[in-house]
Amino acid sequence: MQTDSDLVENYERASKKQKTTINILTSEIDNLIEYVESCKNQIQNEGKSIKDIGKDVITHIKNTHTKFQQAHKEFHSQLSKFGKTINEKFPPDQEKIIQDKVKLSEDIINQIIAEHFFREGNTDVGELFEKEAGVTVSNDFKEQFRELNAISQSLKRKEISRALEWCNCHIEKARNHDKVDEKEFRDLRMLAFQLHKLQYVELLVQNDSKKAIQYARDNLQSFSDQNIEEIKYLMGSILYSGRDKLLKSERYRPLLDESLWTEVLRLFKKIGCRRINQAMESPLYVSITAGYQAVPTLIKLASVTQGMDLRTSSEQLAIEIDLDDEFQYHSIFSCPVTKEQTTPENPPLLLPCNHVLAESSVKKILSTTRSAPKFKCPYCPSVSELVHCKVVHF
Ligand SMILES: [Zn+2]
Repeated sequence: MQTDSDLVENYERASKKQKTTINILTSEIDNLIEYVESCKNQIQNEGKSIKDIGKDVITHIKNTHTKFQQAHKEFHSQLSKFGKTINEKFPPDQEKIIQDKVKLSEDIINQIIAEHFFREGNTDVGELFEKEAGVTVSNDFKEQFRELNAISQSLKRKEISRALEWCNCHIEKARNHDKVDEKEFRDLRMLAFQLHKLQYVELLVQNDSKKAIQYARDNLQSFSDQNIEEIKYLMGSILYSGRDKLLKSERYRPLLDESLWTEVLRLFKKIGCRRINQAMESPLYVSITAGYQAVPTLIKLASVTQGMDLRTSSEQLAIEIDLDDEFQYHSIFSCPVTKEQTTPENPPLLLPCNHVLAESSVKKILSTTRSAPKFKCPYCPSVSELVHCKVVHF
């Protein structure tokens, strides 16, 4: 596989060669025009005949022709090298994995693209895209992401007040909700604590220990139920007030780590998106990145299956493709007999012997077994009945 730098290097070489070739050809043409003019002059003014200068003319044109050919040859050899690099970098095999049978809805794709722009804060582009693609993103969606993006921006500038305000408002909402979601409540409080922590560290960096102590009293104390150890650690850092001292202290240097801000930003994005029932990452980003990871395996598969449909009956690929952890959202179960993933319509069943099979497999075994309703587990000698099998939820 060629690297990106090979591609750029070869492009630059071809482009340079193109320029020098043009220069050579232009100057050769100019020379030729000049020569023809001088021939014309010789015939008109010096009384020479075509016969006199004919031989010279032919030699001259032949020479120019050879120079043209040479320049073209050199340029095309460079151009074909660039072409080869492109082919290696973007194997034409990729076309093989495009399956016409898979119908994608253009409207849904456009909707996802439009929403992506608003998610990323590219409001102008999003609005233009809405108009051109004829899709509409709800005002709620736009407003919710406008708020989240504004707060993310302020966190990037290391200002915590807007994020804190948002956090407190949602803690209040979560508290007043009929059914308190404990996890949600804990996460929001965790975010609030982390924000206060960063503010406290800012005061330490400014060497304002008096203010820092007051800030801790006012804001950190209420988190002592969950974060007492960390609060103790933070209070110890007061002895190292001031950037230089903090930097010199091995124990407290980590408080200056930029990654604390990145973590808080990530936590805010995660909770913020969950509060509005949206995925943390844009579906467009996720599908493109996951697809990109899957391409090499799909190309291999396509060259083996020679254009056959790569899906099984349940709209799933016939093979498993490993994706990074960031793309693992929930556990899945593949039946050890059929190798197919289970679905709500065909759930996994736990047999009394603790082996798990897809419901369809159990039914198939039952339909071919003489001792029905009793059947033998395909993985151990136990005999079971369908009524004793339990649906497993992952
Ligand atoms: Zn068994």
